[in-house]
Amino acid sequence: MLKLKNVSKYYAKNGVVTQGFTKVNLELHLGEFVVITGESGSGKSTLLNVLSGLDSYEDGEMYINGEETSHYTEEDYLAYRRKYVSNIFQYFNLVNSYTVYENIELAMLMNGKNKKECKKEVERLIGLVGLTKYKHTLVSKLSGGQKQRVAIARALANDSPIIVADEPTGAIDTKSAKEIIELLHKLSENKLIIIVTHNKNDFEKYATRMIKMHDGRILEDKIINKINLDKNLVEKEVESISFLNKIFLGIKNGFNIPVKFTLMFVIFLLISVALCTTYGLFKSLEYESNGFGYTEYFQDASDERIIIKKTDQSYFKEQDYENIRALNNIEKVVEDDLVLDFTVGMNSGDIYLFGTLDNKKITKVDVGRLPKNSNEIVIKGSSLNYYIEYYTDELLERDFVIETYSNKDFVDIKIVGIIYDESENIYTDSLTFYLTDELYQNVIKALSTAYYEVNYKLNDNYLQSYEFAYKGIRVSKLVNDGEVIVSDNSSMYCKNYDCLNNTLNINSKNIYNDTSISLNIVKTYNKENAKNLFNEDYDSVDGYIFVSENDYNKLYSSKNYQSSVFVSDVMYLEDTIKTLNDMGYDTLSLKDAKYDEGTEILQIIKIFKLIVTIGLIITLFFIMYFIIKIIYKSRNSYYTTLRTLGATKGVCTSILRNEMYFLASITYLFFTAFLMFVKYDIFEVSFLKNIIKYMGITEYILIYIILLLLSLLIANRYGRKIFKNSIIKTYGEKL
Ligand code: ADP
Repeated sequence: MLKLKNVSKYYAKNGVVTQGFTKVNLELHLGEFVVITGESGSGKSTLLNVLSGLDSYEDGEMYINGEETSHYTEEDYLAYRRKYVSNIFQYFNLVNSYTVYENIELAMLMNGKNKKECKKEVERLIGLVGLTKYKHTLVSKLSGGQKQRVAIARALANDSPIIVADEPTGAIDTKSAKEIIELLHKLSENKLIIIVTHNKNDFEKYATRMIKMHDGRILEDKIINKINLDKNLVEKEVESISFLNKIFLGIKNGFNIPVKFTLMFVIFLLISVALCTTYGLFKSLEYESNGFGYTEYFQDASDERIIIKKTDQSYFKEQDYENIRALNNIEKVVEDDLVLDFTVGMNSGDIYLFGTLDNKKITKVDVGRLPKNSNEIVIKGSSLNYYIEYYTDELLERDFVIETYSNKDFVDIKIVGIIYDESENIYTDSLTFYLTDELYQNVIKALSTAYYEVNYKLNDNYLQSYEFAYKGIRVSKLVNDGEVIVSDNSSMYCKNYDCLNNTLNINSKNIYNDTSISLNIVKTYNKENAKNLFNEDYDSVDGYIFVSENDYNKLYSSKNYQSSVFVSDVMYLEDTIKTLNDMGYDTLSLKDAKYDEGTEILQIIKIFKLIVTIGLIITLFFIMYFIIKIIYKSRNSYYTTLRTLGATKGVCTSILRNEMYFLASITYLFFTAFLMFVKYDIFEVSFLKNIIKYMGITEYILIYIILLLLSLLIANRYGRKIFKNSIIKTYGEKL
């Protein structure tokens, strides 16, 4: 039951006060079919808006079910409308991009119903207004009369006790108008129907009460049909739209209008590209400055190198290597990776070159020729290298020996070709020696013994190696396991100058191994018996001690528990490290192991990155907001419709936010999928490939977060804008 007591409504605009209506006294009851008439400007619509809580009033008192409303806030009016009132408008205010079904369903979703729950009711209402045939037709395709039927069905969807209609037949043809009036009448039982029209004849037949307005006042209030007025207004249970339905509507609205979807997709795509380019660029800058770094432990500090160990510190087996080689994007696996960190010297008497070893197969040289024999090698270095620049001819076809630091092992080789290395940061002294596989294995063997640190103890006293085996250890078939043959020259270190049956302890150590064995001296050699024993001249065996093959292998174990893997490109580094970790290997990426000489540069880049990123986000926000504002201007009526259906600012903003999140996600998903295709060479887009080369999962996630953040900011800002104007004003602007 609604009651107005001396209620007045004024409009103040630009200092001019206009009267909407003055001192209206009115009591309206459930079951009445009230028709308000009067000439244009007489205050009908204003009265209707006040009655339905779409507008406030200035003077007097309005009672809803006996409750005075002068203290009502915006929220109170919203609650009142949600509980009691449904509106029907002259221009329907339906969602044109939704079907008949969806429009009616929307009203129910707004009241907290779920989709399944309301299906039957929606269908019943569509049947009731005679539109079953058009259930899945877009509202924009319907005639005016049909649209007003949809509006009526929607008004009924929430079973509100009060239905308010402002010129419901004003925009439709006479025949349809008749049908609409009949329909309204049919539904009027147990409801309070208030209709504003300037076509009173159409309604006369059905009205129970006629009110005539003139110049803001009630001129006539005539009861035509007396009805039982003792029914009380029943408060309707209302709930708010559910979380899931807000998501559902967000997604639906995302797709709803193809042009809008496309525009939004393009905008989000451009933003993704902008962010990705910025990040990719900074990442590559950081990466390059990181490349200036160095490490004192590893000669080969290529960024593509990953050093691996088994988590349980056990030795690598052939199966390990096979598994690793089978991975994607692996350039090579260096089993005995110590070799990578050796610097070896090549000596030809007057030329001495330093370099690292490699067994990559060479197919082309810049000067000279490709190797034919296993002892022929190719060298690579800067064309500014002193020897390469001035002694090219002297280097080629010349015999060298490869020396290790300890000068104990020599391998004869010949340089036959030169490759120029024109990489920018190349250190002109450094060279790479490309060896054939066979030669490479020999050199590694020689190097690996050379790089053991060997310590001797005789009868528990430490010895210097030159005192006993200044050239090293060799294998002899004459010696059994646990035995050793030493030179007579060593007798001065032995008990009573007799070495026989003395105990020699040998410990050998390198980064992979630490082995100690204890040997019994079973024989000594000298100038007389050397030839006999070893079938070699004394001079060539002098300085060595002789052990069994088993013991030799124990000391110089060729087993590895460390190896190196090279990825074919830095961009695969992170993925490969992760895979290797998952396979049970500990990893050390050389890229991360380097000391940073570029720390300061890196700091500057990082600060710069932060500033640019923030600047970019702010700029993007405004650009995006500007564009989206234009795109969404047409959506004002949608959100106003939601408001008439009882949506709060929170609900509207949340639906809009979901729509933005969804559009951003779809676009980003598409974009990253595309980048993956580029990354894995399914599409050739070299500029993109270079940008994403250094981007890791963190960057991808960060960009996504920024996109969501932008969506959130824009949705919230726009949400505030929607609610800046009242429903009536927004509709007014549209009309
Ligand atoms: P009707 O519906 O009978 O045509 P209205 O209720 O629309 O009449 O208008 C009543 C009076 O209030 C008119 O003088 C009109 O100019 C004024 N009016 C209506 N809406 C507004 C508004 N939003 N701002 C200022 N004046 C208004």
